[in-house]
Amino acid sequence: MDASHVDGDLVNVLFTEDDIRAKLAEMAEQIQRDYEGKDLLLVGVLKGAIMVMADLSRAFSRHVEIDWMAVSSYGSGTKSSGVVRILKDLDTDISGRHVLIVEDIIDTGLTLSWLVSNLSSRKPASVEIATLLRKPDALQMSVDVGYVGWDIPNEFVVGYGLDYSEKYRNLRSIGTLAPHIYS
Ligand code: 5GP
Repeated sequence: MDASHVDGDLVNVLFTEDDIRAKLAEMAEQIQRDYEGKDLLLVGVLKGAIMVMADLSRAFSRHVEIDWMAVSSYGSGTKSSGVVRILKDLDTDISGRHVLIVEDIIDTGLTLSWLVSNLSSRKPASVEIATLLRKPDALQMSVDVGYVGWDIPNEFVVGYGLDYSEKYRNLRSIGTLAPHIYS
């Protein structure tokens, strides 16, 4: 689905499909350099990270393994609550493994802080984070984010895996949702 198919729902398009592809290629190159000679397990957080995972992982010119977690951070509107529940756990034993969490967006970072401490308790060799988007509030969180695509303003964005009420995930670009859609 293109932005033209949801005309009127978006205030603007922040990043086009081409912008996103180029950014993920850049991120993959840096990650590959940093993990040279080490095995790497990419852990995606369903469902928002599906597109990022698909394109980031394909931008690598080396083997990586992929696994998924599904968590729910209560609240279905445009704000997360920080109360997290595991809906689907990893299939992989991550002890001794280098784990890179692949995220679509970090807002308050509450979900991620929880995830990092949960995964760290399983004794991996390392846990790092790669996110395509980061909002301003995330800068206050205690967890370091190793790889960031873009820092964006504090607006609710959709597309490229990011939803509003399960819609817009299949939008090719990323755009700011018009407030009249959710208010
Ligand atoms: P956090 O715990 O960092 O506040 O939020 C994490 C989750 O909230 C993200 O993985 C995402 O599902 C959702 N979220 C935060 N900001 C946005 C946004 O601007 N758009 C969408 N679609 N989801 C968001």
